Order: sequence, then C-alpha cells, then structure tokens
Amino acid sequence: MNIIIFGPQGSGKGTQADLLCEKYNLAHIETGLIFREISREESDLGRNVKEILDQKEMIPDDITLEVLEDRLEKVSPERGVLLDSAPRTSGQIVPVEKMLQEMNRPIDKAIYITLPYDESVRRITKRYACTVCYRHFVLGKHIHNTEEPCPTCGGPIMQRNDDTPDGIKKRLDTFYEITIPVIEHYRHKGMLIEVDGNRGVEEVFGDIVSELE
Ligand SMILES: [Zn+2]
Repeated sequence: MNIIIFGPQGSGKGTQADLLCEKYNLAHIETGLIFREISREESDLGRNVKEILDQKEMIPDDITLEVLEDRLEKVSPERGVLLDSAPRTSGQIVPVEKMLQEMNRPIDKAIYITLPYDESVRRITKRYACTVCYRHFVLGKHIHNTEEPCPTCGGPIMQRNDDTPDGIKKRLDTFYEITIPVIEHYRHKGMLIEVDGNRGVEEVFGDIVSELE
C-alpha cells in the first residue's frame, strides 16, 4: 500500500503517519524532516537547502523531486510508502505521479486530516522539538516544562524558531494556498479520505483505518 497524508500544522499528521507506518509497515517519507537533515550536511545541496530554510522560503520543486526520488529508491519494492505532504504543490503533482508510476508504486489513497485554523495556532504554540532527533513534543503532554530534555534521546528541546505567531500564520497560510489545490486533485480522483482531526488520536486513527480497509 502506498499512501499520501496531508494536514495543516498541528493536525496530528505526524502522529497519525507514525501509527500508519507501524500498522502497515510503510516507509515514512517526510520531506520536511528530510530537508532539515540535509540542511546539516556539508555539501552543496546541504548549504543550499539550509539557506532556503533559514530564509523561511519554500524548497523549489526541482530539489524536492530529486530528494524524493532518492529516498523512494532506497525503499525495497515489497514495502509500501507513506508520503508525508508530497506532492506539496500543484506543480509537483504530475512529476511525482510519473515518478511513482515508473517505480511501480501507484498511490492507493490520500488522507487529509482537517483542523480549524485557530485550533492549529493553539496547538502549535504548545509544540516543542528536540534539537538532536527532531521529534516533536507537546508542552503539558509529553513534557511538563521547557527545561526538560528530549524524552526520546535526552537532547535539548526548543520551540521551532518559526513557531512565533507570525511564523505560524505564514506556514498555515502557505498550507491553505499551496497544498489545498493538491488535496482537491485527489478528491476529484475519488482517492481522498478526509477525517476530522479535532478529536483524540485514537478516534482519528480508527476513522482512517476503517476508511482504508
Ligand atoms: Zn531527541
């Protein structure tokens, strides 16, 4: 099974992606995380990506496609993939679908986890990330004060530097402007599973699984 997952920041998309990957043994391909890893590499690509991320700009489609292809090629053919927010822009739809077709990985379903705008903002302001392993944690849930180390690896945690009110709004606006047309593409193809993300993790996951099966 090959699936794509979409959702605005704070929708719990990452948590649902982890649960789906575990249940269906899928390789999780999250371009956002991959780019943050690449930005630390001592290479031309690493420096280029770092500069783009530092300026809080979108990674150009050609770099996204190159990195996506590289990661997809590393997954064994028997194993399915979960593409996290890719294709992300309308311009990526055709090349990503062509790439997947050539790799004999047709997309089965696209999942969209919805969340009201204000609820996204409320959730993101409570979100912290590990500076070493990049896992996300919610203040008041996984961690109880901002001085605590990462529960997974013990590294220092901090708020993402773009998790300021303006940064959050900019990223949400980007999602609604850039990614909603991609989601609509999958809706028109009859491939979309839309679930209400404004509920508990188990309820959301239960809905996704029953729709997939
Ligand atoms: Zn960590």
